[in-house]
Amino acid sequence: MAVSSFNCQACRWSSSPSSTLPPRARVSVARANTVAVSSKKRGFELRAVVEATATGTAMEAVELKKGIAELYDESSGLWEDLWGDHMHHGFYDPNAADVSVLDHRAAQTRMIDEVLRFAGISEKSPIRNDKRVVDVGCGIGGSSRYLASKYGANCKGITLSPVQAQRANALAAAQGLANKASFQVADALAQPFPDGQFDLVWSMESGEHMPDKAKFVDELVRVAAPGATIILVTWCHRDLGASEKSLQPDEKKLLDKIC
Ligand code: SAH
Repeated sequence: MAVSSFNCQACRWSSSPSSTLPPRARVSVARANTVAVSSKKRGFELRAVVEATATGTAMEAVELKKGIAELYDESSGLWEDLWGDHMHHGFYDPNAADVSVLDHRAAQTRMIDEVLRFAGISEKSPIRNDKRVVDVGCGIGGSSRYLASKYGANCKGITLSPVQAQRANALAAAQGLANKASFQVADALAQPFPDGQFDLVWSMESGEHMPDKAKFVDELVRVAAPGATIILVTWCHRDLGASEKSLQPDEKKLLDKIC
């Protein structure tokens, strides 16, 4: 499983393994260098991801999905109280000190803007009104509502958690965005959409959970329309330096803690 990183300051970007993908979609992969806030349950789920990846039986995949759904059913209210709309890490100024929760919320929004900029989608070249977006692993729909209100995009979000889907729809309705953003329970590895549906395929910190990374990327590509952009932000093991054989001991310790 690709998990990690360290230096809760900013993000480091890397280009995608696009040579393995069909040419019809452009993929931008962002690596979030973050310190995780992990609960015991979240730790359990991350471990479950690793186990399911290692053994990969169908039964384990079913159990894993159930576990992820339950995790987010139970914890989403807490995350929302703490972090608001978004359940992902922030993009911080490297020099920022003593970041408060409010700073964190702003940094979460900035993360969205920065990855859009990274992928070449900015306010100078906005997503047009008719642009269709799929938000894969949507949480309570923060990214979709942001994209819908800022760019007028039409967003469809999927999550394994019924509680999240319901909350995401309720928030969209409350913010007058019900016609622009809708959410449902569905599996990212078997998306309920025909091929070539979306102009922007968005996955913000959900890839970590996917037991089959190849299938995950295949599905992102499958639902992308010709010429679409795929934005995938996920935790990754950092690249090792030329003289390194593994992570540093403090990094290993942190990674173990997260797992
Ligand atoms: N992208 C959101 C939420 C990130 S939390 C945000 O930035 O706020 C991770 C999300 O991935 C949760 O909503 C969880 O339900 C979803 N997820 C994990 N595995 C999934 C799968 N197989 N199919 C669909 N969603 C999945």
